Order: sequence, then structure tokens, then C-alpha cells
Amino acid sequence: MYQNVESCIRFGVKNICMYCSCDNLIKSGKTTNEKQRYLCKNCGNRFIENYTYQAYQPQINKAIIQLNNEGVGIRSISRILKISTTTLLKRILFIADSIPNPPIVKCQTYEVDEMRTFVQKKSRLIWIVYALERSTKSVVSFNVGARTNRTLNVVLKTLQFAEAKRIYTDKLASYKYLIANPIHRTAIRGTNHIERKNLTLRTHLKRLNRRTICFSRSIAILSACLRIYFWGRVFAM
Ligand SMILES: [Zn+2]
Repeated sequence: MYQNVESCIRFGVKNICMYCSCDNLIKSGKTTNEKQRYLCKNCGNRFIENYTYQAYQPQINKAIIQLNNEGVGIRSISRILKISTTTLLKRILFIADSIPNPPIVKCQTYEVDEMRTFVQKKSRLIWIVYALERSTKSVVSFNVGARTNRTLNVVLKTLQFAEAKRIYTDKLASYKYLIANPIHRTAIRGTNHIERKNLTLRTHLKRLNRRTICFSRSIAILSACLRIYFWGRVFAM
């Protein structure tokens, strides 16, 4: 479980750096609250001893990623980390923006599926469309939006760019028009991997859980949480 770590740990009489654990620190001015700021001459990071606002803790982004990916909702994360929900939502958008799209290996076999969910109210249905690379089980592209061909097409365009060898989908009629016939397959059990992934997503992301009062209020945050879930793990190392 995440613990609030002090950014500057006292070791004997000397302070050590939170980022690289060396003791090569010098004083580097004061904050507006008159707190001593330190500069690590080894890694170049600046920090203070005790943060008033927990969201400034160096490890907070990693903790947010970890908690988000383990089925903890927005308000629970805010209680655990002692930061406000407003700050948390802003930070989630910030983290998601800094995560780059993964590199795509060309000529692979993919499974594409659309998952039904809603934002704000049950009648506002949307799709989460994503593509799974079959051999590595990694998500290469996803899109969140209205239940239209346009939403599907964003993901399929990425696969077209990746020169997909085969694309397995379910029997939704739209795919027939959007994917070139020679590479399109709708075989029985062809989408087994991605169907299982749907179940994992529903378990791991609080907002996609069934039979709860937890749901997404905005597409932007839903999209950011998915981005963090799919591609944020490497970032959190
Ligand atoms: Zn350092």
C-alpha cells in the first residue's frame, strides 16, 4: 500500500535525496511558506522536507497510476492520497497527456472489439473500441466515443497504418464495410483474447464495474483512465 513518504529523509544528521538517495544536497532558496528548499547536486532535482499539499509529493503520480489500475475509484484515491478530487482529476489528465502512444510492430494479427458503457447517465451510451495484438496481448490503439462507424474507424485506421495481417472482430455489420475483405475474419472464438480482456477491464477499472454506483461523468476522464491503464505501467516503473 502506498505510504506518504517524506521527500527528504533524515539519515543521521545529514539529509538524503528522495530521488537518488545520495547526500550531496545544498540549500536552494525558500518556498513562499518559508520552507527550506534543497537541490540535489547528483540528480539535479529540487524538493522540500515536508510538503503542505500532498499532490506535490514526488511519488504521487506513480501512486495515482497504481491505484487507478487496481480498481480504486476517484474519491477513494483522493482519500487514500489525501489530495482533493479536483486536483486528482487534473492530475489524471496531466499524466495521460504525458503517456506516448506505444510503438507498433507491422504485419501482426489483431483482435478488435467494442465495449458498451455510458457517461453521466445510463441512457448516454458510448463505445470503448480497442485493438489487441494477438501474440503479445498488448493494446495498440483505443478510442472512446459515440456508437458510430467514426469511432470504430479511428482504431481501424491505426491497424491499416500498421499493415495488419489479419483482423478478427465480432459479427457487427459495420466492420464488414470498414475492414478490407481479405484480412477480415469473424471466426468463432476468433476474439477470445479480447473478450477476456474486456472482463479484466471491467474488474480493474472502477468506472467500468457492473452493478455499482461508480460510473464515468466525462469522456475525457474515462479516456485518460484507459490510457493510464493500457500504457501507463511502463511509465510508472
Ligand atoms: Zn538526487
